[in-house]
Amino acid sequence: YQAKERNRPRLVFNRRMHAQAARLGRLEAEMRRDLDDGRFVLHYQPIYSATDGALQGFEALARWEHPERGLLGPQEFIPLAEETGLIIPLGRWVIREACRQMASWRSGATCGDDVSMSVNISARQFSQPDLVEFIRETLEREGLSPCFLKLEITESVLMREADAAAAKLRRLKELGIKLMIDDFGTGYSSLSYLQRFPVDYLKIDRSFISGDQNEEESRKIVSTIISLARNLGLRVVAEGVEEQDQFQMLRNMQCDDVQGFMFSRPVESPKAQDLLESYIECLRKTDHEGTDDP
Ligand code: C2E
Ligand code: MG
Ligand code: MG
Ligand code: MG
Repeated sequence: YQAKERNRPRLVFNRRMHAQAARLGRLEAEMRRDLDDGRFVLHYQPIYSATDGALQGFEALARWEHPERGLLGPQEFIPLAEETGLIIPLGRWVIREACRQMASWRSGATCGDDVSMSVNISARQFSQPDLVEFIRETLEREGLSPCFLKLEITESVLMREADAAAAKLRRLKELGIKLMIDDFGTGYSSLSYLQRFPVDYLKIDRSFISGDQNEEESRKIVSTIISLARNLGLRVVAEGVEEQDQFQMLRNMQCDDVQGFMFSRPVESPKAQDLLESYIECLRKTDHEGTDDP
């Protein structure tokens, strides 16, 4: 009798593990199916200059239009995609789609030359041996000049194998694309590596902007990151700006670019195109005002 009691928790545990595995297996199969069926989409979140409000570009963010469960955010499928290797086909699709979209906006003349497209690259994707070649081919096929593409790679991915990462970044850089360290401040970069990574941008992690953590501490960290970027000759972007006072603080600290719900949530392609067009329209008006001046 006692032995039976003792066995019970293990049985429950196994059942739960089994259910979990079955759920993940189902999700993986659905992801495979929906990748083929075109049920993944990109939403685009604009990034603006903090000094003059100029549109700097968009960050492409993956979404899954699940037939039963509705619109799913990346936190619900990127970890599993990483684990199963599905991140490779998914990540390729993201790169292709983001380049296609940017090339199409550019050919429609709805897009200024200072507007670019950012794509997130996960750990497993970054370590793919043919990533550089794939990006080169994709840019060529989609007819997009490399200077309009930015890759966002998290600090923790880069620090994992810093020497190999530095070499890979150099190869990506040689293509002519721009590189950004994402979620900066969370991954314990050694300063010597930071100098060896040929990146163009640091993106300050949202946790330091949002006031989730101790506000005074966060403020110091943000200001330290901004001066670090200055000293290294990098541009600095703040993500997750939600409130006016956060934006004001960033402006005072001379942060270059900002992104966050305060300006816009990630939006579907047609809405992003509206943002582009109204921005161009606004520039045109300013130009006219300029030339009309006596
Ligand atoms: P991330 O690259 O750091 O992207 C920023 C995330 O913060 C996005 O969440 C965005 O919607 C959210 N965000 C932006 N502004 C605000 C704000 O003001 N307040 C709040 N609360 N959130 C804000 P999302 O789209 O859920 O993406 C989460 C993460 O998933 C991304 O973090 C990125 O690491 C990953 N991800 C998204 N799309 C892709 C993709 O295509 N490929 C890969 N490998 N990862 C992706
Ligand atoms: Mg990002
Ligand atoms: Mg980020
Ligand atoms: Mg983040």
